[in-house]
Amino acid sequence: MSKRISLLGSTGSIGRQTLDVIDACGMEVAAITANSSVDVLEEQARRYGPELAVLMDEKAAADLKVRLADTSVKVLAGMDGLMEAAALPSADTVLTAVVGMVGLRPTMAAIREGKRIALANKETLVCGGELVMEEAHDFGAEILPVDSEHSAIFQCLQSGAHDEIEEILLTASGGPFRDLTAEQITDVTVDQALAHPNWSMGKKITIDSATMINKGLEIIEACWLFQVPIEKIHVLVQPDSVIHSMVQFQDGAVIAQMGTPDMKLPIQYAMFYPKRAFLGGERLKFEQLKSIHFAKPNPALRGIELASEAFRRGGSMTTVMNAANEYAVAKFLNREIFFTDIYRWIEYAMDHHSVIQNPSLEEILKTEQETYTLLEKDRNIIK
Ligand code: NDP
Ligand code: MG
Repeated sequence: MSKRISLLGSTGSIGRQTLDVIDACGMEVAAITANSSVDVLEEQARRYGPELAVLMDEKAAADLKVRLADTSVKVLAGMDGLMEAAALPSADTVLTAVVGMVGLRPTMAAIREGKRIALANKETLVCGGELVMEEAHDFGAEILPVDSEHSAIFQCLQSGAHDEIEEILLTASGGPFRDLTAEQITDVTVDQALAHPNWSMGKKITIDSATMINKGLEIIEACWLFQVPIEKIHVLVQPDSVIHSMVQFQDGAVIAQMGTPDMKLPIQYAMFYPKRAFLGGERLKFEQLKSIHFAKPNPALRGIELASEAFRRGGSMTTVMNAANEYAVAKFLNREIFFTDIYRWIEYAMDHHSVIQNPSLEEILKTEQETYTLLEKDRNIIK
């Protein structure tokens, strides 16, 4: 049976690569969504003929509706539209590739319809991990990782039982600043932070990779997805991005997933699991691969430390950490704050929050807003 996909965030880096996979594998597109990229969404709507196209931005959605008046594509706006795309009855799989915790409510909507969820949007699990995993269990919705490390871990886990896992080795490229000292990172520029050595991705995740917040978010993502304690997850810098992560089992066997860096593999693995589909492109040439390098993460990049601390404090604290990061990254990209201010803003928000354990969806969303309000109000004090 042909698959029908609702693709949230279709205009982004993961969204476009998902459409490449859809082209290659001949799947159908049920819905596409974006924030405000009206030109690209119009082009995609004409090419793929989805039932629904959604733009978060109301004005852009009104424009799209006029532009698509000669087609049968329904156009909606805002969070209600995004949730309708996620819950669309005709779609069997929802690939969520929006950036940020705006993805939480649509993911919950898809879970409640029992869809397969191919999850790239890690911020959703960072903020709502407990709730998302519980509801996925209750509604029989499968959540399959698209994040390359988590897809790798998931593939490695096919070789053993859950209670046989000794540790998860979560690999990291280390980003562009992996060899800089604490002093050297204080005056790095936006352009330097956006120059990721191995992957071409959206701007927010590229900055998250430079701060190592991305790896911190991924530790939390792995704890929820694979239901393992944080103590069993170790980050290993592997600058060549040849190994996408590994699992060590209790008999000492280490299973690694390797390959050339290409997000299309985790995207299609999440769609076709438990089957594998053909994917063209370069293969690893082991005889030309003279060495693989490993290193410890650079402690001057405090992302792992701050995210792990938030996870240990638990409950709503991961939402505070994530929201403060989203806020600070936007300011950094806008050249309003320095690179290391990102850590200071996260720390400030975490220090001013009293944890709510087992937060409901409403409490998570309220915590997000309170974090933005706090940072907006105190921005001159923090600076
Ligand atoms: P991009 O910035 O390239 O794309 C983001 C997508 O989300 C775009 O379609 C964008 O629309 C849409 N969007 C942005 N803001 C909103 C909003 N407020 N409401 C609704 N839609 C919105 O991001 P990436 O593709 O790089 O990343 C997407 C997610 O996948 C992130 O969570 C990231 O961490 C994760 N991920 C990405 C990887 C990668 O290789 N890129 C690897 C692993 C995980 P518009 O075009 O209109 O702005
Ligand atoms: Mg990743």
